[in-house]
Amino acid sequence: MKKFLIVLLVGLTAAIAVQSAVGLKAGETDADIKSMIGVQQPDISQPSQPEEPSSSEPSQPEWQPQSVRIVSAGDNLIHSSLYEQAAARSDDGGYDFTALYENVADYFLEADIATLNQETVIAPSRAPATYPCFNSPPELAYYLNAQCGFDVLNLANNHCLDQGTSGLEECLSFWKENYPDILTTGVYQNEEDQADIRTKEVDGITFAFLGMTELTNGLSLSSDSDIVLVQALDNEGLEKLHTQIEKADEIADVVIMNVHWGNEYSFTPTERQEYLAQQMTDWGVDIVIGHHPHVLQPVETRETADGRTALIAYSLGNFASAQADAYCLIGGVLDYTVTRQEEGGEVEISSYKLEPVVTHYDSGYRNNRIYLLDDYTDELASAHGVRARYSSFSLNYIDSLLQEVVGSEPLAGVTLP
Ligand SMILES: [Zn+2]
Repeated sequence: MKKFLIVLLVGLTAAIAVQSAVGLKAGETDADIKSMIGVQQPDISQPSQPEEPSSSEPSQPEWQPQSVRIVSAGDNLIHSSLYEQAAARSDDGGYDFTALYENVADYFLEADIATLNQETVIAPSRAPATYPCFNSPPELAYYLNAQCGFDVLNLANNHCLDQGTSGLEECLSFWKENYPDILTTGVYQNEEDQADIRTKEVDGITFAFLGMTELTNGLSLSSDSDIVLVQALDNEGLEKLHTQIEKADEIADVVIMNVHWGNEYSFTPTERQEYLAQQMTDWGVDIVIGHHPHVLQPVETRETADGRTALIAYSLGNFASAQADAYCLIGGVLDYTVTRQEEGGEVEISSYKLEPVVTHYDSGYRNNRIYLLDDYTDELASAHGVRARYSSFSLNYIDSLLQEVVGSEPLAGVTLP
């Protein structure tokens, strides 16, 4: 027994070991145990000297750079063929969109933050509707949220008033009530809601998300509505946008701006897009995510007035759609990483890449599904329904379009110094 005790007294494990050996009864303290095994109690009447920090203590772990990876997709345009397929796949009378997104879902889930332009409203009290005045079934939201993990949805676009002001009000309430963790941008319930700038923090880096549209298809909000739709059509609108960007810049390390702009089916940004890109980035935006033209436009970096490097994707094209033209079925996901290199230092864009995506469908716009170009094959391309109109649709066709519009660098991936 003595030998047993000596063994127990060695090292810091003594008390613990005795607790398990003799069993610590309720009410017995660590001091009782120590007296049982002959450990002297310290004289608590004498204040003990504060211990000098030992030089052998392990030092603080070294600062490690923090990086966050964000992926941003273009227009999620839910035509009737897409929701009709989803209805046919559902076995409970609802809508099952799994097949549309299943080939790309993991790509979005694996990123730290995923953003999307949700082109169509969800007004659940109304029947789904297609072009020209879209409305999407509420089940769609589940697939964007749970299947793909989108964190941020831009709602400011030319289709946001397709179901009128009341449809947009319904849509905002739908997202807020059912998906409170998804941040929505560009359209707000009222001025107070707009002032509550959407932010997200990942690994100590704070992101602010803003959105706006240059177009509303000639529709406008009813004058008695409190809804705020961010537009910058005149100097007053630009000044308001400027103020909002500065506020976002104050509270966040990185400001990401979704913009619905440009000419449909044009591969080239307009002068207005270039002007706004420079203005917004000079005011504090770090990354501009453009959409609306339904086709890709260039990706570039720009130096801002205060010497930062900003990243601009003028148009990411379509993410999901059932459009008829081959060039509308090739979109892109901007995949970018921001890094804080030094403790307390600025956060900068460290790399970016345009990841091409292809929306595939069989003949007659059936069986739509999205692929990363990396997973797309010539065999699939040769079976694409678009070949009824574009017989040359192939991997070669896709590559030539990408090289011409986007160029080799953003496709290969760029690391910034
Ligand atoms: Zn649009």
